[in-house]
Amino acid sequence: MIFDSGRAILLKTINCGDLRIEHVGNTVTLAGWVHRRRDHGNVVFIDLRDRYGIVQAVFDPDISPLVHSKAVELRNEWVIQMTGEIVKRPEGMTNPDLPTGEVEFKVNELVVLNESKTPPFDVNEETEVDELIRLKYRYIDLRRVRMRDMLIARHNVINYIRRFLDDRDFLEIETPILIKSTPEGARDYLVPSRLSPGSFYALPQSPQQLKQLLMVAGVEKYFQIARCFRDEDPRADRQPEHTQLDLEMSFVNQEDVLTLIEELYTRLVKELFPLKRVLSPFPQLTYLESMEQYGTDKPDLRYELHMSDLSDIAGNTDLRVFRSALENQGLVKGFAVPKCADYSRRQIDELTNLAKSRGAQGLVTIALTGSSGDLKDLTEDQIKSPVAKFLSLDQVKSIASRMDADIGDLILIIAGESKTTNMALSYLREEMGRRLGLADPNLIAFAFIIDFPLFEWDDEQSKWDAMHHPFSMPQSGYENYIESDPGKVIGQLYDLVANGEELASGSIRIHNRDLQERVFKVLGYSREEVNRRFEQLLTALEFGAPPHGGIAPGIDRLIMTLTGNDNIREVIAFPKTQSGFDPLFEAPSPVDDNQLRDLHLRIT
Ligand code: ASP
Repeated sequence: MIFDSGRAILLKTINCGDLRIEHVGNTVTLAGWVHRRRDHGNVVFIDLRDRYGIVQAVFDPDISPLVHSKAVELRNEWVIQMTGEIVKRPEGMTNPDLPTGEVEFKVNELVVLNESKTPPFDVNEETEVDELIRLKYRYIDLRRVRMRDMLIARHNVINYIRRFLDDRDFLEIETPILIKSTPEGARDYLVPSRLSPGSFYALPQSPQQLKQLLMVAGVEKYFQIARCFRDEDPRADRQPEHTQLDLEMSFVNQEDVLTLIEELYTRLVKELFPLKRVLSPFPQLTYLESMEQYGTDKPDLRYELHMSDLSDIAGNTDLRVFRSALENQGLVKGFAVPKCADYSRRQIDELTNLAKSRGAQGLVTIALTGSSGDLKDLTEDQIKSPVAKFLSLDQVKSIASRMDADIGDLILIIAGESKTTNMALSYLREEMGRRLGLADPNLIAFAFIIDFPLFEWDDEQSKWDAMHHPFSMPQSGYENYIESDPGKVIGQLYDLVANGEELASGSIRIHNRDLQERVFKVLGYSREEVNRRFEQLLTALEFGAPPHGGIAPGIDRLIMTLTGNDNIREVIAFPKTQSGFDPLFEAPSPVDDNQLRDLHLRIT
């Protein structure tokens, strides 16, 4: 008996998807949805579906004309209950693609539990359906196999994380959703208070301060599968609310946190996704190394395509774009793409446009044509480049050897302001990785990026920002530069990345009031603002706060990476559209005047 509501009625005695050859001869009751109906001459076949799978039911008019005549009426997605016998399928009629394919179900009784309107799209086929329609009828969409499997995968991942951390003595503690602004660099969602007119709660952008307070409280090891709310501008991979594995530990250093996460993710992948593999150990790159080699702090390490700085060589060429980039403290940098020297004019234009779409002024290409041979023997005839006449043969050879290029490769170079140059190159690197199919689809290339600067300069607002959030600890030896040279301070800050995505950020935290106040000051918070927003944390730091640190890996992104999805909405049961709209509930929506009055609000 697998389903007993506690009352006398058993709606099903076994799951459809669990039926196997050993059940032959058993009389069972099944319940589920009509997945598909097929009429073969006289006999009606119904594929019955429940969460566990599909089984074929047979209605033979010779066995029961009444039940057969009812079966003829059935339509897709009706909810039915059937009682009958499990039999072996006739010779030659087995279906090896179906786990239940060796058996079928001979029906004696049929009860329609509920009818269904014709669904807006097929459940029994993974046809392309407009996403808005899928989201509006999400409860139907989630019936489809792919979405069901996603829900199961997500559950398994979260369950694994819970067990892993429980085994290591972590306490799962819930923290409030109605709380006060805690900055993670986004806008807050605000909730007006009815009882305190004119005052608002903020939904947490993360439980950051709360988990630090739990460390002050002596919890030592905390985690939570936490919902975080960030009112950010729409982006394809963002949702107004996302889920994090929020984690914090006392009496640890950076390496302790990284080791825990590496062990968790290595084991999780091995156990739940045995076809996937991870790099072992996870590479650790400093922020600077990552920027130099990949032009980004979230590199896709499934493939090489290293970048090289060419400033010294470029400075000696007659090429104006190179020289002016360098005169303006910019960069000349590039990488070699294997075996693409035969790229056509059109293909090169395409790449140039991609680089421009990321802010680059242009793209310099040098094709080293020829089928093979040593770089030493490269001749001028083999060099195909719009800028060939500005480069000597030796300069091309130096560029090529700096990049480890071979004959047959295509060299891509961008010159310009550092940030855009890196951004455009990293975009091209990913594009080439994709075009050439360089990424092993079964590899999840986790890596840690460490030694981030504590502060970054915000050009628009002309002020220092926290690279991550304001609570991170500088590395020892850098405290003295906090005021005098903030840009120089390296933090005890780390990210976990995988396949070109940032999966987590974390840090060792400041546990001392003075230091925390100094950091707030550099970030431009006024005394009044600090008091208003952070006094609770600063006060707590004065009551025996232990050294502590943590990390918060995003769960949605992790599931995306593990299941090979590139749309975040595919891994969330009830997501919102890119513009933050929920098509199912039609939220957000206007509210009654009464509600506004209760909240002391007026819409202007
Ligand atoms: N609260 C941080 C975040 O949401 C993570 C952390 O520092 O633990 O990114």
